[in-house]
Order: sequence, then structure tokens, then C-alpha cells
Amino acid sequence: MADSTLSTLPRMDALLACPALADSGLPYALRKAGANQVLDRLRHALRAGEHVEIPSLTALAEQARQAAEALARPGLKRVVNATGVVLHTNLGRAPMSRRAAEAVAQAAAGYSNLEYDLSTGKRGSRTARVEELLKELTGAEEAFAVNNNAAAVFLMLSVLTPGMGVAISRGELVEIGGSFRVPDVMARSGARLVEVGATNKTRLSDYERVLESGQAQALLKVHPSNFKVVGFTQEVGVEELAALAARYGVPLLCDLGSGALGPGPWPQDYPTVQKWGAAADVVCFSGDKLLGGPQAGILVGKGEIIRRLKTDPLARALRLDKLSLAALEATLLDWRDGEAVPTLAMLEMSQKELRQKAEGLAALLAPLCPCEAVETAGEAGGGTLPGEELPSWAVALEPAEALEAFLRGWSTPILGHIHRGKLLLDVRTLLPGEDATIREALAAWKGAQP
Ligand SMILES: *Cc1c(COP(=O)(O)O)cnc(C)c1O
Repeated sequence: MADSTLSTLPRMDALLACPALADSGLPYALRKAGANQVLDRLRHALRAGEHVEIPSLTALAEQARQAAEALARPGLKRVVNATGVVLHTNLGRAPMSRRAAEAVAQAAAGYSNLEYDLSTGKRGSRTARVEELLKELTGAEEAFAVNNNAAAVFLMLSVLTPGMGVAISRGELVEIGGSFRVPDVMARSGARLVEVGATNKTRLSDYERVLESGQAQALLKVHPSNFKVVGFTQEVGVEELAALAARYGVPLLCDLGSGALGPGPWPQDYPTVQKWGAAADVVCFSGDKLLGGPQAGILVGKGEIIRRLKTDPLARALRLDKLSLAALEATLLDWRDGEAVPTLAMLEMSQKELRQKAEGLAALLAPLCPCEAVETAGEAGGGTLPGEELPSWAVALEPAEALEAFLRGWSTPILGHIHRGKLLLDVRTLLPGEDATIREALAAWKGAQP
């Protein structure tokens, strides 16, 4: 193939005229983009001096058609989460309830009374409905919701403590992930970081010292969320901090992160919105962690403080969109009515249920490839219950590497993890109907084997 040079590449119009592309039924712009991708790839290789065999015009047209089809598919797609990580940030955290999904679809496809008061015919508040539900569920005086919890923390510090010294334990100067580091957010908000205590131990007297000396004019408590300090440790509880804050007449601000609403499938002593909310001036947390709703940052607390946050111009820049509001309202209604919130149901599944689910799936897949139900360990994820392994059940498949890649590339990608030479599909995080998706993919796998 000595004649593989740039000048021997087929022309664009010749490629576009091939039946594989011309009769593909795809729009012209996509056919052209697909052809361009294929030709560009060859041009690039030739310019780089690689040895390239230029395929036939028909073969190139087929490649171009496949490229065009790939371009036609949406980039953001449904995947099957078989990782066992319930709140997987890379996979969109919380899958929402049917009620929430329907509320989103309604809000998306039509107009709504988003900021319109139907009883007066005048302008209304976009967050009023979720605020009422949040107050009812948490017992807080006032509530507000913004775009995510990072925004809630930023709003809280920017509005309440600009230029002020804010005391925080050295054990709570955490990085949450995705470059959200408490010291950086504080700096950006204009608050002055006043570190107290040590990484493993902070006492009430450490906070008291900086309040007494006038170095700090507010207290911040952050739930370290995604890690756990064990061993020789000490931290100051929210109630004690609240009493200290009251004594010095300074606010106590809390970033709870995970947002457990009352008792649930987490340890007894796990900090809840109610517990921290009863003591602090303001508590913020995520909508899509243990609450099981959409991405959102929720703030609950004292009336006067929350009203300051709501009316600040920054709140407008961080506001929640209508789809998230619809989903948040529906999720809060699920909580109020005792309806199943999918992430909670997943966290609550018993070993017996998980085992049955895994054995059922293994039986379904057995005719297609070697597999067995095995015990495994997942996690809550989203930085919510660090150090708490979630004992679970999975289906173990072989050959691990090849299957992992095949299932990841499936039209509805199926994501598991490899452990000791087997591909494990943890059944805890499988949603209804996904067994069938896995079966379909494995049937295709089997069919493609020599
Ligand atoms: C998760 C978390 C955040 C960030 O919340 P997002 O909703 O992801 O923006 C902030 N603080 C703590 C303590 C967290 O756990």
C-alpha cells in the first residue's frame, strides 16, 4: 500500500454518495460530521507518518455511518448501576421516585405556577412550597433551597460572615470531592478562617479561646462526611457549640452535607437535620444524598437568618431551577407521606432480600455465561456513611475483563466492578426491570462468542 497518501483519500462527496451513508436516513449534517470524523482520523494518521491502509470506499462509508449514528445518540444516557454504591456521584447520585420523575416531566413539558400565586393572581415565591414542607419535616422556623449544597455553604458564609473570623475545628477542614474544600470556600466567601484544635481532637475551650480573644465572630461546624477519624479523638457536639455561641452572641453555622432526615438506615448516633437544626442557627445539606432527591442545597434554621439569605442578591445567582424544584417538592412529599424513597429502600434492603435478588439474577443469567450469587460489600456513597461497609450480594461473572468492557459498551451501559478476577454485579443498586437489561446484554454477548 505504497500509495497511501493524503491525495489518495476519497473525496467527501464520493463518501457521502455511498448508499451506506446516503440511504441511512440520518440528517445531512450528521452524515457529513460522521464522514468528516472518519476522513480526519485517516488524515491525522497519514500526517503523523503512520503506515495506513485506506479501506475501500464502501467500508469507509460504513464507518462514517456508524460515527454519524453515535453522534445522533444523546451523550447523557441511562446506565445500570450494578456497583453497589447507592449514592454514586459519577452516576448522578440519587435515582428518584416515580412521583418525583412525573413531577419533573410535568414541569418540563408545560407551564407551571412556578412564581405565580394562583389564589391572588399575583407573583408568588418559587420556593414557597418546598419551604413549607421543609419546615413541616424538620421543625425549623424557616427554610430555603438553592442549587446545591456547595452553593448553600457559599451563600451562608458570604451573607452571614463576610470579613468575620469563623472558628472551625482542624478536624473539619475537609475536602468533599470535586474540588470543594472547606478552607477554599471560606476564603472565596470572604470569611476569615480561624482554625481551632487539632486534626484528631478539638475541645470546647479551643473554640472559647478564639471567641474570648475576639479572633472569631462565628462558629462553623462541618460534618466530615466522607472520612472518619478513629482512635484518640474528640469533637465538640452541636449542642455544646450552640450553648457557647449563645453565650458569646455569635451565630453557629452548620454544614451537615449528607442530610439524614430523622431516623433511617444509618447508625443511631448519625447526625440528622433535626438534631443539628434544633441547636444551630442554620444547617445546610444536599438534596441528593440521604434525602434521595434532586441536586439541591437546603438551608433550614432561625427565621431572621434564613430571611437574610433569601433576600440577598447572591441567592438569585444560586437559585434552583423548576425541574429540580418539582423533584424536590415530590421527594419531600414522599418523606411526609411515608412513601418509598428509592435510595432509602436500597439502603434498607435486608441480607435475605439481597441474597434472593442475587440468586434470582444468577438463575436468569446461568444459561448465558458462567455465574453465581456471591456475598460482597457495597457502600452508601456520596460521602455519607464513611467506614460503613454495606454487606451485599452480587452475581459474579466470568471472564471479568472482557465482560466488563462489553457490558460498559452496551446500549444501556451496565456498570459493575472487578474483584478477584470476577465481574461483580451488586444487586442492591439494580432498579426494577434492569435484570432484563442485563439478560439481554448477556444474550448478545453469548451470541457473539465463537
Ligand atoms: C456533599 C457535601 C457538600 C457538597 O454538597 P453538593 O450538594 O454536592 O454541592 C458540602 N459539604 C459537605 C459536608 C458534604 O458532605
